[in-house]
Amino acid sequence: MPAADARAIARRPRGLPRRLLLTRAARGHAHGLAMAERAAALGLDVVELAGDRVTLDLPEDPRRAYRQAKETLAVTVAPPSKLRLQPIAPSADWRVDLAEGCPAHCAYCYLAGSLKGPPITRAYANLDEILAALPAYLGTGRITSRSRVRAHEGTTFEASCYTDPLAIEPVTGSLAATIAHFGGWNEAVQLRFTSKFADVGPLLPLAHHGRTRMRASVNPAAYARFEAGTDPVAERLAALGRIARAGYPVGLTIAPIIAAEGWREAYGALIAQAAAVLAGIAGLDLTVELITHRYNPGSKAVLESWYPGSRLDMSGAGRATKRTKFGAEKQVYDADTMRALKVFFEAEIGERLPEARILYWT
Ligand code: SF4
Repeated sequence: MPAADARAIARRPRGLPRRLLLTRAARGHAHGLAMAERAAALGLDVVELAGDRVTLDLPEDPRRAYRQAKETLAVTVAPPSKLRLQPIAPSADWRVDLAEGCPAHCAYCYLAGSLKGPPITRAYANLDEILAALPAYLGTGRITSRSRVRAHEGTTFEASCYTDPLAIEPVTGSLAATIAHFGGWNEAVQLRFTSKFADVGPLLPLAHHGRTRMRASVNPAAYARFEAGTDPVAERLAALGRIARAGYPVGLTIAPIIAAEGWREAYGALIAQAAAVLAGIAGLDLTVELITHRYNPGSKAVLESWYPGSRLDMSGAGRATKRTKFGAEKQVYDADTMRALKVFFEAEIGERLPEARILYWT
């Protein structure tokens, strides 16, 4: 391997896929071609597919197939259905997908059971079309646009519903382009994303004009075993501090809250750590979102096949069954546990992060 290639690969950020598949349609978009160029510079194998179907010869062995799929980023063109936005309560008015899938290996990942097929991440080459669809939604939506307490956030667009956009940003560049787009969109709008990654350097100099809120998705360091392939929580918090100093509104997504033994001490230490990192930042605009761990039969089956050795408790003990408005079942913590968690988080945040606005508890 030439020395330059070796250096590029050594620079490859944590969690980044190993190969990039470029569909024929994606090659018709400058943004798709730019992704392939960045991938090659980072040492990823770039494969040009003959057509638009994402095909990858996966091994029979399900463990190896899973790993190879997770190591693959496909650059595709978002279909017209993706340009019709869906509501995304309780985070934001609308969901805007720059990509789907994530290369990390969280034992509780909410994508398991939501996305079908092998867990190949797809990044969209037609970003200009995705962004061009947004103005039609201005002033619409039920979460912030019509909320008395959150109306000042404007029309909100959540970019991390089906992906962690920062995880793949070194290849895609989609997040930076979208932040810049919102920065130049002189309306009451807000882009939102949350991440378990820390490589925010390229986002710091962007002309965001306060129209993007980055949240760090965090859990105690003691739970790192549930979040393989992500950046350590101390790095995520440090990244949030850097972003806040660059004038971005910021937030903590404490998710998923896991009521494992010792949770009070673990989350108390986490909130104290966040408070220390964010202390003294002038003009800090901080929100907190609190999301308890839940799963459904489909996601449990997928996660148990992906992470058979995981110690994440999905046994059903201490759980209650909740029905979504669409009739699907999910397992949430039982009422006593939920109450204890909620009381604890509200008190700790009130004490350690008094300037923070809690957006929701779920
Ligand atoms: Fe899933 Fe988020 Fe973990 Fe990625 S970082 S595997 S999207 S939970």
